[in-house]
Amino acid sequence: MKYVRVEMDGRACYGVMADGCIEIMEGTPFDEGMRMTGMKIEMEDARLLAPTPFSKAVCIGLNYRDHAKEFGLPIPQAPVVFLKPSTSAAAPGEDIIYPAMCHRLDYEAELAVVIGRRAKDVAEKDALNYVLGYTIANDVTARDLQPKNGQWTIAKGFDTFMPLGPFISDEVDPRNLMITSRVNGETKQLSNTSNLIFPVPYLISYLSHVMTLLPGDVISTGTPGGISGMQRGDIVEIEIEGLGVLRNRIG
Ligand code: MG
Repeated sequence: MKYVRVEMDGRACYGVMADGCIEIMEGTPFDEGMRMTGMKIEMEDARLLAPTPFSKAVCIGLNYRDHAKEFGLPIPQAPVVFLKPSTSAAAPGEDIIYPAMCHRLDYEAELAVVIGRRAKDVAEKDALNYVLGYTIANDVTARDLQPKNGQWTIAKGFDTFMPLGPFISDEVDPRNLMITSRVNGETKQLSNTSNLIFPVPYLISYLSHVMTLLPGDVISTGTPGGISGMQRGDIVEIEIEGLGVLRNRIG
């Protein structure tokens, strides 16, 4: 299934993508009782929202070797973890706001895991049973602010710094997906999720032994090497095999 969240008559609802259409559902993919309504809208008429209104986005830093290397940092012995606030979410196509206090704004292409049901103290072998599906995240970063604050909440926590989407799919294998980013059509990052230092089941298990992961929560798995800055007016696109393209303009 490919789940989308759309705005209809001023409210958010979920649907399933098929054959260029979205079939609207009653309830959400996180509910037991959700059902399809039979009502369909054309893809081009839909106003997509971030596919999950997460309570927390748990993000992993330095989870690709070449990215750790481009900062001259050692390969981490345990996942480097930080949180983004729910207010950082942005929809596909929504402008990323360039903050006045930032002088270097970076994209970070990331595979995002969307949690489907409450996960606490989960074993690695069972971890994927707690996943609804996968989507694309852009872990937008005010790079110049990152070293100034001692930790990363400010540099990564601005409104619109977590574009997500365009849809959540349960049809991909997170172990082997091409991941790429482009700015104004020029390829900036090109890697594969097979290069993740800490893979998805490990991350779910590890994090669930610290904090309860709730339905709709996001784990953003880290970005490969090739980061650089963006300017106002730039179009940033992130593409992951099987998950479409997440496109946003810098506003
Ligand atoms: Mg990141």
